Amino acid sequence: MPMYEYKCDACGEEFEAIVRTTEKDKVKCPKCEKKARNLVSAFSVRGGYFGSTGLGGGGCFGGG
Ligand SMILES: [Zn+2]
Repeated sequence: MPMYEYKCDACGEEFEAIVRTTEKDKVKCPKCEKKARNLVSAFSVRGGYFGSTGLGGGGCFGGG
């Protein structure tokens, strides 16, 4: 099942829900249980780059 993004106009809650395509317009807000608005109408792919976390670091040990 596809995942849709929703926003509740009543309380402003944004959430994602995995629903059937036929039921995507029947999703309610988990907070106030009012009808939420479907945000995603078209697939938009955002490219994300995951930077590798390098374990680096040099330490200066000061003797004292
Ligand atoms: Zn709400």
